[in-house]
Amino acid sequence: MAKYVYTFGDGKAEGKADMKNLIGGKGANLAEMNLIGVPVPPGFSITTEVCTIYTQQGHDAAVSAIKEEVEAAVALIEELTNTTFGDKDNPCLVSVRSGARVSMPGMMDTVLNLGLNDLAVQGIAKKSGNERFAWDSYRRFVQMYGDVVLGMKPESKEDIDPFEAIMENLKEEKGIELDTQFTTEDLKLLVIRFKEAVLKVTGKSFPDDPWEQLWGAVSAVFDSWMNERAIYYRKLNNIPAEWGTAVNVQAMVYGNMGDTSATGVAFTRDAATGEDIFNGEYLINAQGEDVVAGTRTPQQITLEGSKRWAELAEVTEEVRKAEYPSLEETMPEIFKELMAIQEKLENHYKDMQDLEFTIQDGKLWLLQTRNGKRTGAAMVKIAVDMLEQDMIDEKTALSRIEPAKLDELLHPVFDTAALQDAKVLAKGLPASPGAATGQVVFFADEASKYENSILVRIETSPEDLEGMNLARGILTARGGMTSHAAVVARGMGKCCVSGAGAVKIDYKARVMNVDGQQFKEGDWISLNGTTGQVYEGKVQTMNPDLGGDFGKVMDLSDKFARMTVRTNADTPHDAKVARDFGAQGIGLCRTEHMFFEGNRIKAMREMILSSTLEGREKALAKLLPYQREDFEGIFEAMAGYGVTVRLLDPPLHEFVPHQQATQKELAKEMGISIDAVKSKIADLEEFNPMLGHRGCRLGITYPEITAMQARAIIEAALNLKAKGVDARPEIMVPLVGTVAELRNQAKIIRSTAEKVFEEKGDRIDYLVGTMIEIPRAALTADHVAAEADFFSFGTNDLTQMTLGYSRDDAGKFLLVYLENGILKQDPFQVLDRNGVGQLVKIGVEKGRSAKPNLKVGICGEHGGEPSSVEFCDSVDLDYVSCSPYRVPIARVAAALANIKHRN
Ligand code: PEP
Ligand code: MG
Repeated sequence: MAKYVYTFGDGKAEGKADMKNLIGGKGANLAEMNLIGVPVPPGFSITTEVCTIYTQQGHDAAVSAIKEEVEAAVALIEELTNTTFGDKDNPCLVSVRSGARVSMPGMMDTVLNLGLNDLAVQGIAKKSGNERFAWDSYRRFVQMYGDVVLGMKPESKEDIDPFEAIMENLKEEKGIELDTQFTTEDLKLLVIRFKEAVLKVTGKSFPDDPWEQLWGAVSAVFDSWMNERAIYYRKLNNIPAEWGTAVNVQAMVYGNMGDTSATGVAFTRDAATGEDIFNGEYLINAQGEDVVAGTRTPQQITLEGSKRWAELAEVTEEVRKAEYPSLEETMPEIFKELMAIQEKLENHYKDMQDLEFTIQDGKLWLLQTRNGKRTGAAMVKIAVDMLEQDMIDEKTALSRIEPAKLDELLHPVFDTAALQDAKVLAKGLPASPGAATGQVVFFADEASKYENSILVRIETSPEDLEGMNLARGILTARGGMTSHAAVVARGMGKCCVSGAGAVKIDYKARVMNVDGQQFKEGDWISLNGTTGQVYEGKVQTMNPDLGGDFGKVMDLSDKFARMTVRTNADTPHDAKVARDFGAQGIGLCRTEHMFFEGNRIKAMREMILSSTLEGREKALAKLLPYQREDFEGIFEAMAGYGVTVRLLDPPLHEFVPHQQATQKELAKEMGISIDAVKSKIADLEEFNPMLGHRGCRLGITYPEITAMQARAIIEAALNLKAKGVDARPEIMVPLVGTVAELRNQAKIIRSTAEKVFEEKGDRIDYLVGTMIEIPRAALTADHVAAEADFFSFGTNDLTQMTLGYSRDDAGKFLLVYLENGILKQDPFQVLDRNGVGQLVKIGVEKGRSAKPNLKVGICGEHGGEPSSVEFCDSVDLDYVSCSPYRVPIARVAAALANIKHRN
């Protein structure tokens, strides 16, 4: 019989750390912590397989599959905690949480204190000797269960939570301000009012039977796997829906049992900067979500952290000590124990851990450990530090680098000079580093209103995820370093300042007030997520420093990568940027972009519109010096490395003027009538230009274009040679489908080169190759290779032609395809391995069967996308080429791929 439930507790566990796929990340780590002697309340995990049964076969099938096992597991919790589920004197209370294979922070729902009812609350009151605590737990349970399981949510985005509204009303009635001021009688009244609200809204009474509560909560976790937020998060992070989530049921421990109890969240290293310093936040007499919800100002765990916090928050040492003391000061013994556990966990997992703990009446319990989410900067620093601390080896250090996340490090930071002049509006916590300038929006679903928006919220919730992702930065008025906003922003690499208390937000009026100054929606502000400062207006940014640990990661990548990384660049400037990022050559220089500037476009149009060879040659002669000059600049910027220059590719129609005035001007310049110009332009129109007169078809119909470009390239290289610069041109013919096309063009190129050599009395080495971007070229690559020194896969066109999706029109249906799961990923972003990838593979194999040393690369957009880079390595490409800013990403991806494939 299949096993669907795995128990843990009292130093024993049926699961372990490497069983994440089955019992989820949280469940696997809870089991593992038990096994290594970390105190964890007993519990059990229901497997992800049950989630699949639930979504495919429904609630009843899932419950009947696990009923017996769950009953036995609950019995074990009862035995280990010496309590009884549903008992009126000594009830067993549990938490129910989701836990997918990978952590999805804030995505799935949690229910605490499950098992409470009107009788059990009395048992808890008696047992704890604390009636207020019992009723506070009960009202929290009804509230959470009502929200998560029974769906009692705010009606509109401007409304507050229905339970919060009831609480606010009672506060008003009683003339109090804080939750902590509620008396036991108030809490009893809240439970009654909460339950009345549940009956009114759902039409059903709040369930009193703990088993009914448990099955309801388990179902709600499975349901939440399919909620919008979870689906969005999965899409953002490429997590398959089939994975499902596990459910963890665990005996409750309480951080809200009075002043000897507390709850907290901690990181074994700094998740924002990577600094090797234990840090975190806690609250005395608080429960579970209080620390991350941002409703109370959490205190720091270590004394050092507390002092640093006080400085940032501009709190005096006196006030800090009296009102916000660290755990190290308030509970020194527990702090020592926690310190030892965090060290043990980091050494065990050999990665930065994100911990949740609760202190119940002087006893420490760990509720969770996982590899902590971190910013790109922290990712790099932690990997390098752990390597230098001999905790991990070089390959493991590299494996800790998520290539795409490096992007965060490559982008601008605030210009230091501009910062000096900027007016600081407020100060919050440096929750997630970076610089962001944008226009204020107050609602997550309005983040796309402006191109650059800053989402300003009192606090964020999982519902805000999509808007947080769209915004340039996030500012919250409440919440600490572990608030929802902070954790999620760091995961996204998004700049975030949290807990800026001076910011007062009025959602209804859509304004925020800071020290008497009012900001409306649409006003500009700037955030520094590295210092926590909020500035008025726009602040200038500048380029980041790419040495230090970043440089070490790049060196490691070069040590382990087999493929080299080139760049796609059409200007000396881009070539230089890419060189600084470590590009070794240009894999694609698109020459057409050079024809648009200033007078060039005139000469180009003249060439296109001429009806005679003579006319075209005259215009081409004007273009030649421009081209030569461009190539000299690019070859020089890439001296010593190959530069692949592609001959003219796009349909000529893209270059001609479509406005009457420009057409008139052109007619005058060429000495022909405007009608002649118009009729020529009409002639160039095509039904299907991407499959029309473009690529090598241009060079074949107008050989003089190929000859001019070849001449410009070779002359440029020779001119540089004369100056002592090592230029290495590689001339590339686009859109070849048959070997005869390439033969035709190669002949023109080679004979032109010979002519130039003769004229100049000198020679250089150069290559002639082709793009492989038509399926037929891939399928006949053995023939094509006979004429080519190199291949470069143009996977943009190859994707277009293999799937039959127009590159320019696919936007209309791709989203629907992705939403319906017809496609898992956009094939123009992530290489379609099973289709396009097969053509690449065939192309490489056939090409090398004819010419074993054939150099092969890729220059389509996929060349900078990590999973596509991995594929390129698996089919033995020599290099990938991508846009300058993706070069570092591709370098790491190439190293990771080689480690995976050849080790
Ligand atoms: C390609 O088709 O992949 C390619 C790089 O060429 P372009 O995008 O210019 O068509
Ligand atoms: Mg192409």
